[in-house]
Amino acid sequence: MYFPWQDELWKRLAGLHGRWPHALLFHGRPGIGKLHLAQVLAQSLLCEQRSQAGLACGACVACAWFASGNHPDFRLVQPEALAPAQEEVEAGEGVEESKKKPSKQIKIEQIRGLSDFLNVGSHRNGYRVVLIQPAESMNPGAANALLKSLEEPSAGVIFLLVSHQPSRLAATVRSRCHALALTLPPRQLSLRWLQEQGSKATPATLAFAGDAPLEAAALPDDEAETRRRLFDLLSQPTSSALSLADFCQRLQPDPVVNWMLKWTYDLIALASKGNARYNIDLEKKLHPLVRSMPLLKLLRFYSALLSLHAIAEHPLNARLFFDDLFIAYKEIG
Ligand SMILES: [Zn+2]
Repeated sequence: MYFPWQDELWKRLAGLHGRWPHALLFHGRPGIGKLHLAQVLAQSLLCEQRSQAGLACGACVACAWFASGNHPDFRLVQPEALAPAQEEVEAGEGVEESKKKPSKQIKIEQIRGLSDFLNVGSHRNGYRVVLIQPAESMNPGAANALLKSLEEPSAGVIFLLVSHQPSRLAATVRSRCHALALTLPPRQLSLRWLQEQGSKATPATLAFAGDAPLEAAALPDDEAETRRRLFDLLSQPTSSALSLADFCQRLQPDPVVNWMLKWTYDLIALASKGNARYNIDLEKKLHPLVRSMPLLKLLRFYSALLSLHAIAEHPLNARLFFDDLFIAYKEIG
């Protein structure tokens, strides 16, 4: 079943039955259920006893195959990093070499590897479905290879592309897809859903997740406590860059930069007479800070954070990384 906030979109999709475009592009920010919707659609396209509402029955042989990841007319294409390869390191290789990171890109071989699937007909006299996610992770070679399939589509094949950043997708690929934008769900709907899932997420948690319910559900509880302590330190004018870097010593740079981006985003919002977007429960802490922080310096710091974000996954030296980050923060005001 799709998520409760996808009802309208599902009805639009159901209206496409019988005249499916060769490729659909689901796009929108992470954490709102694009991939899930594409999977629900894929199953419904393959189901052999679809309901009137266009939903898969969940009981036929096609549904059973789909659920176990074995439907012969379905292919999921994603970066290795999202689906760790089964085969272990070949014997004889050193331990160090064996730690080769799985690729974050969809490679050309993965798209070329679809050619048999595309050229041999359906196993069940129905559709064949290829789900590519996230589509922007296709490298240029892969995107080009896909373009050929989109230009000369095989009958009965439907491509479902899922993208967090469609602007990073080749324009030639984009223009051959029927695009469906997924927007942020209304807060109340997200909160009700989170509650039903047994999540402890509060309105503040949801806001911190940028109103993306799946992201809010995935925020680890222990992380919230660490973040709260860091934000306490940030809001005290007496805490030095050194003490902030000390505090972060044992943390991964990546999440810290993300937290700092949201913290700074809110400072900028308040400095511009707006409201906090992510830290809605911390406005009292943020307000006094803004008085001594010129907007221009905040904006500069924010853009510096964006650059740091690009290297945060593998900084050469985490301690230096945090030192630089917090020295720049304390220089704002
Ligand atoms: Zn079924």
